[in-house]
Amino acid sequence: MATHLFSEIEYLKGVGKARGEKYRKLGINSPYELIYHIPRTYLDFRAYVPVAQAKINEYNVLKLTVYKKMPPQRIRGGLVICKAAATDGMDDILIVVYNNVFGFQSLKENETYYMYGKVSGNFLRREISAPVFISAAEKVLIQPVYPLTQGLSVNMVRTNMKQALELMRADPFETLPGAVMEKYDLCPLMTALENIHFPESEEASEAARQRLAFDELLKLQLGMSLMKSRSRRSTAYKMDSSISAAPFTEGLPFELTDDQKKAVSEVISDLCRDVPMNRLLQGDVGSGKTAVAAAACYFTAKNGAQAALMAPTEILASQHYRTLSEFLEPFGVKVCLLTGSLTAKKKAVIREQILSGEIDVIVGTHAIIQKDVEYRALGLVITDEQHRFGVAQRAALAEKGDSPHKLVMSATPIPRTLALIIYGDLDISAITQLPKGRKPVQTYAVTGKLRHRAFGFVKARLDEGRQAYVVCPMIEDSESDLFAVKSYAENAAKGDLKGYSTALLHGRMRAAEKEKVMKSFRDGEIQVLICTTVVEVGVDVPNAAVMVIENAERFGLSQLHQLRGRVGRGQYESSCILITDNTSEDCVKRMKIMSSTSDGFKISEEDLKMRGPGDFFGSAQHGLPPLKIADIACNMELMNKAQNCARELLEADPQLNSPENRALKMDVMRLFNKDIIG
Ligand code: ADP
Ligand code: MG
Repeated sequence: MATHLFSEIEYLKGVGKARGEKYRKLGINSPYELIYHIPRTYLDFRAYVPVAQAKINEYNVLKLTVYKKMPPQRIRGGLVICKAAATDGMDDILIVVYNNVFGFQSLKENETYYMYGKVSGNFLRREISAPVFISAAEKVLIQPVYPLTQGLSVNMVRTNMKQALELMRADPFETLPGAVMEKYDLCPLMTALENIHFPESEEASEAARQRLAFDELLKLQLGMSLMKSRSRRSTAYKMDSSISAAPFTEGLPFELTDDQKKAVSEVISDLCRDVPMNRLLQGDVGSGKTAVAAAACYFTAKNGAQAALMAPTEILASQHYRTLSEFLEPFGVKVCLLTGSLTAKKKAVIREQILSGEIDVIVGTHAIIQKDVEYRALGLVITDEQHRFGVAQRAALAEKGDSPHKLVMSATPIPRTLALIIYGDLDISAITQLPKGRKPVQTYAVTGKLRHRAFGFVKARLDEGRQAYVVCPMIEDSESDLFAVKSYAENAAKGDLKGYSTALLHGRMRAAEKEKVMKSFRDGEIQVLICTTVVEVGVDVPNAAVMVIENAERFGLSQLHQLRGRVGRGQYESSCILITDNTSEDCVKRMKIMSSTSDGFKISEEDLKMRGPGDFFGSAQHGLPPLKIADIACNMELMNKAQNCARELLEADPQLNSPENRALKMDVMRLFNKDIIG
């Protein structure tokens, strides 16, 4: 069969097995996926300069005629060096290429090229190294620059891209209905894809970007809506507003903050309606979301229904289990823990109890959404730290039972524009205040030279009865020079922390072991927990008042904020010491931000500014499918357009089943996991 758009990438001319593997590493498995490998930027070969005006030690565009190619030279270590002499008609320059014999071969003597590369040397003898080049006969002078991996040259990708576009041109298709393109002034898909790679002008590439970004935003919203619309049915668990949650809230060891009280009453009034609740509980780390969740579980149980709480890690699940048991069992509400690491026998017993309704509140990891877990009367599902879950997992939990109420909790404040998409029709309860008596965590950034002194400070706090976390990025030593918990713990026990009780905690330990360590830490038997980021979310030990983070440069702002949220959870003065020897501008800035604010919203805004909005989509942070083009935060107008368009389409054709919407629906399903839309 001839190669087509959806063939394996290896079938594309000149790709083959080795190069194919490199493409696959980039997530590109077919010519179609190659076409969606969008240029990072463009090289404008129109703006070339004479050799004499090239800026030394910078990248320049030159127009050169090659007049002599030297034979490749083999130098040490198998390195091959290729050279050619070239001229712009006035001055000579040497072209130097390392190891890329293939690229060099395509240069011909007596031919003229546009070249882009770093120029070095002096005015007597200049060199341009590893240039990207195109023939001077080429009509398209704006050339794409792709995000690459080692071993795939720009020239190579460009050649393959042209072939892939050729395949699509032979059999072009359009995903948007004609009326939509007209109304929103968008160019056809084929045009957009050609122009995103090989634009003839800035306007052409901009129009292409608009169309493709619109596509992504539209698909995202359609996908989210299609998923939501499946759970629009009325709930079987309209609860009784005459039941009071007061016995529970009054029995808590603390008084709820005003925001917590408000959130509880919002949740309860939702639970008493016959449409399922769809609410986001947003509050910074340590603001007390768990207590609100517990109140909702209490109310649900008193209404004779079950509640399920899903946490992203086993450590967090078992912590929630303990907290909820402690809060709820005195009221006769029965709580269980269901995680993947239980024995099959234990799981079977618990599943039986869930099915019989003996258990009211089920706490666990994603084990609670497995097919074999059946609920007797699931009235409420709660996901904690919801950004940690994929869209598919959240949908699976909501699919359990008979249109249960849904509460999602998150400490990650997100930009408003993004919230509109992700949470669409969710109602939001926000906890903006911290419980009384909390003191902001004092944060210091220091270099390794001060490590010894930092530990002096840590020990002083330990002597006062507090506990500490030391966070390292790695588990085992590697070539990277990054700190690893295993060797760190050994060294600390002999050195800086001699005489103090320490323990290790990392993700590769067995669940039972982790639990044992967490228990001794909670019980105060362990003074210092030397751990990886397994403690990042949710862990709550109020007596822990110091945290040391090694290789702090390795962590993003939001992650540092989450980690730091492990301390400052009780009445004690707490501190966080960030240790890094990295002096890059970016790192210094992050350390400054961390030391100067403890406001999660501010930190996430800064994070957004530093990493760029694309990163929110790039990382799986929000459980959304990955987007490549849409620049959400900067593109409010396009967002609104796409939102309007999605609404219009769904109003006219709720499941997108009409012939003119079929291609679009397929595309939505390609973006999302097929089976969650169905
Ligand atoms: P998060 O919102 O980060 O999930 P948690 O629910 O884990 O926060 O609560 C953090 C800590 O604050 C816990 O130890 C909890 O018992 C305590 N806490 C929660 N609400 C209050 C309150 N109103 N007053 C005092 N302490 C509270
Ligand atoms: Mg929490």
